[in-house]
Amino acid sequence: MDKFDNFDIFTIEVLDSLFSGLDDDSGLDPSLASNIEMLFSRSVSDNLTGNIVELFQLLTKVRNSSGLSPLAFGLSRKELEGLALKHQNIDEHQVSVGGRVNRALPIVEQAGSRVEWYLKQKDLLAPSGIELWERIVDNHSRIRKILGMSDQEWNSFSGQLKFAIESLDTLGRILRLPQRAIQEVGRVTQSYRMRLTPYYAGLIMPEALDDPVLLQAVPTSEMVDNAGIEIPPVAADHSPARLIDQFYPRVATIKATNMCAMYCTHCLRIAHIGKKDRIYKSQAYEEALSYIRKDNRIRDVLVTGGDSFMLPNEMLARILNELDAIDHVRVKRLGTRIPVTTPQRVNQELLDILERSNDIKPLRVVTQINTAQEITPVSREAFRQISKRVSAVMNQAVLLKGINDSRVKMWKLCETIQEAYVRPYYVFNCSYRNPQFSHLRVPVERGRDIVESMYGNISGDAIPRYIATAGGKIPLHRSNVLRAEGSDLILIKPWSGEEVKYPDPAPEEYERRDFAFEKYQEK
Ligand SMILES: *Cc1c(COP(=O)(O)O)cnc(C)c1O
Ligand code: SF4
Repeated sequence: MDKFDNFDIFTIEVLDSLFSGLDDDSGLDPSLASNIEMLFSRSVSDNLTGNIVELFQLLTKVRNSSGLSPLAFGLSRKELEGLALKHQNIDEHQVSVGGRVNRALPIVEQAGSRVEWYLKQKDLLAPSGIELWERIVDNHSRIRKILGMSDQEWNSFSGQLKFAIESLDTLGRILRLPQRAIQEVGRVTQSYRMRLTPYYAGLIMPEALDDPVLLQAVPTSEMVDNAGIEIPPVAADHSPARLIDQFYPRVATIKATNMCAMYCTHCLRIAHIGKKDRIYKSQAYEEALSYIRKDNRIRDVLVTGGDSFMLPNEMLARILNELDAIDHVRVKRLGTRIPVTTPQRVNQELLDILERSNDIKPLRVVTQINTAQEITPVSREAFRQISKRVSAVMNQAVLLKGINDSRVKMWKLCETIQEAYVRPYYVFNCSYRNPQFSHLRVPVERGRDIVESMYGNISGDAIPRYIATAGGKIPLHRSNVLRAEGSDLILIKPWSGEEVKYPDPAPEEYERRDFAFEKYQEK
């Protein structure tokens, strides 16, 4: 007899329940009977588990709804036991048909109900730029016509920058904003700069005043009217050398430029960024690099700005070369939002530079995408190309009111970027230091709920870490350890709130040093 001829309790339960039914076959639905007969004969003839599962499911359904036992359909207990045995013998892991029908399938079904609301709403409430592509293409051709850009200008980074939208007049012609809004933008831009590349402006749906890309790119009156004093930027306490910011002993950043292709309304570096484009002197880079050369604790160098992709290719190549030549620098990162705002920048020459440096020591690209709407077929293609040349492409999103502060929007963002070759890395709580964007801040409890809700519902590697920046990055994750009960910990499942016991290793056991090979030590 076969080794797996015993049934588990689930299968015995199913069989007992089925055969406790009635075997009266009068008034049977003939199509039901023939369906059962067909499933039975397929279960017998084919070497597949699916038919057997379907047959047991159907028989269970009939038993529960009309009380009929398999005998009413001419099936004996022996025959069904034979099929149950066949099922677990076919299955690579000897899973029983009872386990599958009464446990696994209902559990999967129930888990599915946790994401139903999301599947219904995601494309409606948080459409990606891929889903909106036809409308974006319309926007692009309209903007292109208004600005009078040639194909070549549209498709080049220099063309996108040359035609960047910086004036009220151009903004007014491109977006259908209320007259008063345009006037207010005028008031704000006396203090803060506005710049949108024509490509990025095309991601804005022109009729929607709550458009999440509009909110990120076009400044509103709050920026100058919000009460409060700007707390001196973190850089003041954390810049040990020219162009350098350093919070941690082993990670340093070089703020290699103050330029960006577009300026964000929520920019953390608003004090340095977007006032006036500045080309830094080569001595500045030299001093920054020599600071890094001198401190052999520094192993990870992040080149940011502004936006590191604003640097000309030669400059970027030179900085990467210099970093690769420092023995203690083992990994590098480039911070850039340009693949999202101006993907035309990502050309072969740049990709070759990335690959060359990555071949020497790992290079990662760290980007900022805040909404699924910012991922279009064009930016996705840019990330696909980049991801082939570097060791990782990671996203640092900022949690922003009205932009991505709901479960559906953040889940959709994380899934969409993952599908675009980008790994969700951080979600930052919007900084408290700048009154300029205090109207965009979201309470920590809300952010925690959003990030926590992802566990068990989307891929683990699409879940970002939730972070407050306050002189370094402070994790805001909710603790899932509720309390200790004796030697058990009580953990809470993020997706259901259910508490589970989790035995910790006994402290005496952990203290033991005479384990593994140590116990053979000859004394
Ligand atoms: C964000 C940041 C880093 C990098 O932090 P990680 O947690 O390693 O990603 C390093 N230095 C400064 C100044 C930063 O702002
Ligand atoms: S890309 Fe970064 S540095 Fe540039 S404006 Fe946006 S947030 Fe600021």
